[in-house]
Amino acid sequence: MNTKRHTLKGSVWERVGDVLVVACDPSVQIELEDPDGQAETLLAAMSAGPWTLEDLQQRLAHQGTMVPIADLEKAVAALDSLRLLVHSDQPDPGGLVGDERYFSNMAFFDLFASLECSRTGYQQRLLEAHVLQLGTGGVGSTVLQHLAGLGVGRLTLLDCDVVEQRNFARQFLYRQEDIGRSKVQRAADWVRSFDPRIQVDVVEGRVTGPDDVAALLPGVDAVSAGIDHPNEVDLWVNEACMEAGVPFVRAGISGSRLGYFSVDPGNSPCLACSQKADTEIASGAGIDAAATRLSGKLPQVNRAIGPVAGLLGSMAAFELLRYVTRYEAPQAAGVHVFWDAANHLAQRRKPFQADSHCRLCQQARMRTARFFKAAA
Ligand SMILES: [Zn+2]
Repeated sequence: MNTKRHTLKGSVWERVGDVLVVACDPSVQIELEDPDGQAETLLAAMSAGPWTLEDLQQRLAHQGTMVPIADLEKAVAALDSLRLLVHSDQPDPGGLVGDERYFSNMAFFDLFASLECSRTGYQQRLLEAHVLQLGTGGVGSTVLQHLAGLGVGRLTLLDCDVVEQRNFARQFLYRQEDIGRSKVQRAADWVRSFDPRIQVDVVEGRVTGPDDVAALLPGVDAVSAGIDHPNEVDLWVNEACMEAGVPFVRAGISGSRLGYFSVDPGNSPCLACSQKADTEIASGAGIDAAATRLSGKLPQVNRAIGPVAGLLGSMAAFELLRYVTRYEAPQAAGVHVFWDAANHLAQRRKPFQADSHCRLCQQARMRTARFFKAAA
């Protein structure tokens, strides 16, 4: 006998002809074909408190509807795939449900909870996660505030700069009295005072090659890359993360073009693939090639005002949240997502072109294949 008790999430429904429209959120409306009313009867039985399959069968039988357990199992699987069901007796050893600190997170994760992972399960993944933040400047300091708010359990921060007056248009965790002091130390102090439960480690220094990043990766679940200099730094982060199998998210601005992307080793093309394709485009003929060459010749101007850093920091933090919790698939894996600040923030997505000869991608795919083979 299956004694696991399940609950239907807070849902409402309304019949429109043969279709049952079910809603559990303004943006989640599900249409169920229900010409004979069986789905509606089932939902009504499920909404009358927690149930096991046997309970459900009895509730339906009381209403004169006899349904075999095997059919109920199929219905439960179908409703679970729509994320309408949760376990009633999910263990909560950390007391997260009643902890006001995570009140909003619980409400957010409730939308994505299923029989596979509960809302506390998602929060637990955050609490157990270790994120490496490279750079605590314009975008990095904003990402950091979001990660702390989400309750990421461990953060390692790297930066080499001091706080300057010019930072104040977009870096809101620093204070006037911090000017001249180490940015990364002040950022760590901010995290500790914001939430003393978060473990913060600090690295004061520069990234001078892939080895500097690789040395910090053991135990890290995801990397937030926010260093702008030198130009090669993103490729160094890419190389280290690809070799270690750690996903990374990069957000930044070039002129009026805001953008972010992520790399999911073994599952998405990497930045080296993308840059090789861009180099090939720039060496060609035609308008696209000329435009690519010209943008490379333009002087680098940092136009990142506060709302820009805020937008990019939020998007990067969202993508990191996806990697750490897997509440949904990464949305920018192997895709440049751009917003044009000179054109009403118009959005454009440009997928990376995979390079079939890329050594880093080949290695990462082999490692992923070995992992699944070992797990099988
Ligand atoms: Zn690659």
